[in-house]
Amino acid sequence: MEYKPTIGLEIHAELKTNSKMFCSCKNDPNERHPNVNVCPVCMGHPGVLPVINREAVRKTIKTGLALNCNIPETSKFDRKNYFYPDLPKGYQISHSGGSSLVDFNRAGIPLMELVTEPDLSLAKEARRFAEELQLILRYLGVSDADMEKGQLRVEVNISLSKGQKLGTKVEIKNLNSFRTVERSIDYEIERQTGVLDKGKKVVQETRGWNETKGTTVSQREKEQAHDYRYLPEPDLPTLHLNKKFIQEIKAEIPELPQQRRKRLAQEYNLDEKSIEIFTFNKDLGEYFEKVMSELRNWVKEVDVKEKVGKDEFLKLTKLAVNYIITDLQGLLKSASVLGEDFLITPENFAEFLTLIYKSRISSKIAKTVLKEMFGTGADPSHIIEEKGLTQLTDIGEIEKIIKDVISKNPKPVEDYKKGKENALQFLTGQVMAVTRGRAKPDTVQQLLKKFL
Ligand SMILES: [Zn+2]
Repeated sequence: MEYKPTIGLEIHAELKTNSKMFCSCKNDPNERHPNVNVCPVCMGHPGVLPVINREAVRKTIKTGLALNCNIPETSKFDRKNYFYPDLPKGYQISHSGGSSLVDFNRAGIPLMELVTEPDLSLAKEARRFAEELQLILRYLGVSDADMEKGQLRVEVNISLSKGQKLGTKVEIKNLNSFRTVERSIDYEIERQTGVLDKGKKVVQETRGWNETKGTTVSQREKEQAHDYRYLPEPDLPTLHLNKKFIQEIKAEIPELPQQRRKRLAQEYNLDEKSIEIFTFNKDLGEYFEKVMSELRNWVKEVDVKEKVGKDEFLKLTKLAVNYIITDLQGLLKSASVLGEDFLITPENFAEFLTLIYKSRISSKIAKTVLKEMFGTGADPSHIIEEKGLTQLTDIGEIEKIIKDVISKNPKPVEDYKKGKENALQFLTGQVMAVTRGRAKPDTVQQLLKKFL
C-alpha cells in the first residue's frame, strides 16, 4: 500500500569559535592530547560561573538570518538534566585495561541545533537539504561542518501516513554521512510500510543506523520533554538582542551558494556542472573569477588591434574553465588554491590562457608549462622562452622535418599508400617527436598528407 512519508531534520553543527561556549578554554577539534583544553566550568564543577560566548551567539544568529529565520529578541537558558543510557555520567567513557578514560576537551564546545519543519517527503531531498546546509555553514564561516569529524550530525524524524493526519514519528539518530541520511530514510520507509501493511502500529522510538547491515535498529523508546527535567539556568542571564546588533550581523553575511550559482550562470554563461564545482569548491570558484577579471583586462588591452569579440571571449572563458577544473585541479589534488604552496597568481594563469588562445603553445606543451608554473610559480612566457617551447608556426621548418621523417620511414609510408590510416598516426607522432611537441598536430597531418 502507498503511504506518504513526512520527514523532518534535526541537524547539529559545531560552531567554529576560538573558545568554548561558557568558558575561555580553547575550542580546538584537532587537539589530540586528552584534557588539555579544560577548566572547572567545562568540567561542570559545582559553584562555577559560566559566561556566554558572544562569538557563538553571533554565529548562530548569522546562520538564522542567512536561512531567513526570525531571530527572537530574548532567549533564556535552561539546564537539561537527563540520564542518557549510553552516557550515564553525562560524558563519554571508554575502557582500556580495566581503567576508565575520560577526555573533556570536547565538553562545552558550542553546538548549534537546526530543526526543520516536517516538510520533506523524499530521502533524496533530505540528503540534498543537508548537503546544501553544510555548504551554507561553510560559506558563512560559522562551522567547518565536516561530517567525518563529527562537526555535523543529522537526525531524521520520519512518519508515514495516508491522510492528512501525520503518522507515528520515528527518530533516526547520529547519522554521520549524507549517504546514510538517504539510505536510512529509504530503509525506514520500507520498514514502516511493512509494519502498517500488517495492520500493526509503528512504535514511537529512537533508532540508530547499522552501517554493516544497512538497517535501522531500535535504541530506546522516545522520551518526552519532561524526561529531560529542564530547569531554568540560574547562572546565565536572559539574553536580550537589540536590533542594531542583529543588523550588524546581517551586514556581514557574504554571498551564499544559491546567489553564487545564479551569478556564475549570468556573468560567465557556465554550464551546470562547472557552476556546481565552483560553488562547492568556493576557493577554486574565487580563483576562477580572479583569472577571468585578468582576462577581461587583457582583452581590453588587445581589443583595438586583435578584436576579441563576445564569442571569442566565450572561448577564453571555456579555456579558463577547462584548465582550472581539469588540469589545475589535477595538479592540486585535494590542496587548496589558498594554500601557501600554491604559487600561480591569477595574472600568470590568465597569461597562460592567452598563450594557448593565441596558439603560441600547443595543448600538449600547455600541460608542461602549467606543471612548471605549478612547481616554481614562474610566469608562462618566461618558461616557454627559457625552454624553447613556443609553438612551431614556421611551415617551411615543419615541411623540412616532414620530408626527413618520410625518407627515414619507408615502411609506414608504403603502408599509408596501401590505405592503412594507422600509418599516418605513426608518422604524425614521429614529426611531433622531432619538434618536441611544438607543432600543431592538425597542421602536421595536413602537410603530411600533401607530401604523401
Ligand atoms: Zn573550560
